[in-house]
Amino acid sequence: MLYHSTRGLDGSRSFSEVLHSGLAEDGGLFVPESVPTLNRGTIDEWKHYSYEELAVEIISLFSGDCFSRSELTDIVYQSYSGFQHEIKSPLTKLEENHFLLELFHGPTLAFKDFAMQVIAKMFARTLQKKNLKINIVTATSGDTGSAAVEAFKNLSNVNLYVLYPHERISQIQRMQMTTANATNIKVFAVQGTFDDCQSIVKRLFADKELVSDVNLSGVNSINWARILIQTVYYFSAFYQLKFVYGEKVSFCVPTGNFGDAYAGYLAKKMGLPINKIIVATNENDILDRVFKTGTYKSDQVSQTLSPSMDIQVASNFERLLFDLLNKDPKKVCELMNKLAKKGGFNVDKKIIKQILKDFDSGAVTDKDTVTTIGQFYHSREVILCPHSAIGVRVAQDFVNAGETVISLGTAHPAKFKDTVESALNISIPIPLPLKDVIKKNENVKVISPDKGLVAEEIRNSKFTTY
Ligand SMILES: *Cc1c(COP(=O)(O)O)cnc(C)c1O
Repeated sequence: MLYHSTRGLDGSRSFSEVLHSGLAEDGGLFVPESVPTLNRGTIDEWKHYSYEELAVEIISLFSGDCFSRSELTDIVYQSYSGFQHEIKSPLTKLEENHFLLELFHGPTLAFKDFAMQVIAKMFARTLQKKNLKINIVTATSGDTGSAAVEAFKNLSNVNLYVLYPHERISQIQRMQMTTANATNIKVFAVQGTFDDCQSIVKRLFADKELVSDVNLSGVNSINWARILIQTVYYFSAFYQLKFVYGEKVSFCVPTGNFGDAYAGYLAKKMGLPINKIIVATNENDILDRVFKTGTYKSDQVSQTLSPSMDIQVASNFERLLFDLLNKDPKKVCELMNKLAKKGGFNVDKKIIKQILKDFDSGAVTDKDTVTTIGQFYHSREVILCPHSAIGVRVAQDFVNAGETVISLGTAHPAKFKDTVESALNISIPIPLPLKDVIKKNENVKVISPDKGLVAEEIRNSKFTTY
């Protein structure tokens, strides 16, 4: 399987190159040359597979000769051994025709663990084989950073730099990153928004000299491997519903950077009988607006109760555009130039119509988020995190219209303890892995949103001799 950039970079890349580089050299995102489609026989055959078996099957369709089957099996089993639930992504019923896919049983209690655990083990193997050391930089709205710190800490061939928006994430999210106490990890609180952090990362990658001097690599959701690994739980959820082939289910996905939703779309393209991917946003509703009006325009980021979704540039949307613009990189570049110069662009009506065959959307205010958290606690004793509540609230409209919907439970409520406790007027217990975090000393550097500063830190780290 070979990969191209959405912006037309010459030549193809292997899975291992795509895994290591994160972003393409031309600023685009990597996409596979083609998506393998599964026939009905295969989809039926997989229905009794464990989570790990599904993961091996799906990843191996895309990973070429990067790993042998037995290596991939080792990676997958090791990755999920630390999850607290046997099914890894169990499905629970919320109401008639509405289910919650619990994606918060990993070590840092958010769905980001599913991909990050696997990616870290993939990096460890490939780097060891090549006797290579790398520097990884990642922007986070809170959960990617904690998952990455947990997965990469003390890995000998990797340094990890995490940028998060100062005072715009929850206390527990912050402490999960700042208390790692590992010499290969540096955490920066950037005085700005997530979009500022992401923009620094993109500019670091555009600095060709830096990229080659320090072997710079990225694990944001723009890294293809993360998207791929996340498709597995869509399959797992589908099989848990025990649907008869031919019936269709929609997935409702609390969305920020459009990585998770795009993973669902990929599962659909592979042949999983998904009706719609419903994109649920908070007040940072750029995607809901583009689906409804055709205009993709980023606003100021507003700070909401669901900080992991406080994003106004949904980077992975570029992958969908590439697909729908007949894989024409020139057209993608045109739109991305407009985004860079004018802060937005218009998507052709025909293309929006096509998008709406696979997607739907809705946006939720903080007030409705709080109401929804209360509603499901009182009716079902289910405690939702604010992000999951947004998905559940949007899904309800589709459930009421007669669809079967699986809503993605993207994080554990305890990660957003203050918000959930004030919504419910109760105190919620802190799970063990978080108790540990709260007691430790924090190590973090507050910086202005300056790419140069981060570049210097990476260059100066004791790690940059290869
Ligand atoms: C990252 C995250 C999201 C958004 O996922 P994207 O892939 O960026 O769209 C939603 N909820 C939680 C809890 C997250 O951590």
